[in-house]
Amino acid sequence: MKIADVQDQIDHELISKTDIHKKIDEVAAQVSQDYRGKDPLLVAVLKGAVNTMVAFSQAMSIPVQMDFMSLSSYGSGTSSSGTITVRQDLSTDVRGRNVLIVEDIVDSGRTLAWLVEELKRRGAQSVEVFALLEKPSRREVDVQVKYKGYEVPDEFVVGFGLDYDERFRNLDSIAVLKPEVYQGEQA
Ligand code: 5GP
Ligand code: MG
Ligand code: MG
Repeated sequence: MKIADVQDQIDHELISKTDIHKKIDEVAAQVSQDYRGKDPLLVAVLKGAVNTMVAFSQAMSIPVQMDFMSLSSYGSGTSSSGTITVRQDLSTDVRGRNVLIVEDIVDSGRTLAWLVEELKRRGAQSVEVFALLEKPSRREVDVQVKYKGYEVPDEFVVGFGLDYDERFRNLDSIAVLKPEVYQGEQA
């Protein structure tokens, strides 16, 4: 789906499809170099990071394994609940593995900080992070993102996997919605 298909609900495009893939390709080249011979396990948090995982893993030049985890830290609105629960766990034993977490967006950093600690607790040999988007102004928890995509302002963004109330995940670029789309919600 393209911006033009939902023009009436979009305020403005933030990152184009071309720029998203350009950045993912750059990071994938770096990660392929850094992880050659290390048999990396890519872990993505459902559902938002799925698009990034697909594009990123295909852009890599070394074989990787992939696994997925479903966590909940957000409800259907735009504000964090602060509590993290596992809805669906990995099927891979991470003990001794070089894990790279693939994230869509790091906002407060709570979800990511929890996941990094959890994977270390399970015995991963290394745990690093690639986040396509970061909102530095909203960071509450200090967590290191080794591979960085784009920084975005403190606005609620959708597209390329990111949803508003389960919609707009299939938008091929990243955009800011018109305020009236969230009418009745607390931002
Ligand atoms: P954190 O724990 O860092 O506060 O939030 C992480 C999760 O919140 C992200 O993986 C994403 O699901 C959701 N999130 C945070 N900011 C945004 C945003 O601007 N747009 C959307 N669609 N989801 C967001
Ligand atoms: Mg995420
Ligand atoms: Mg969401």
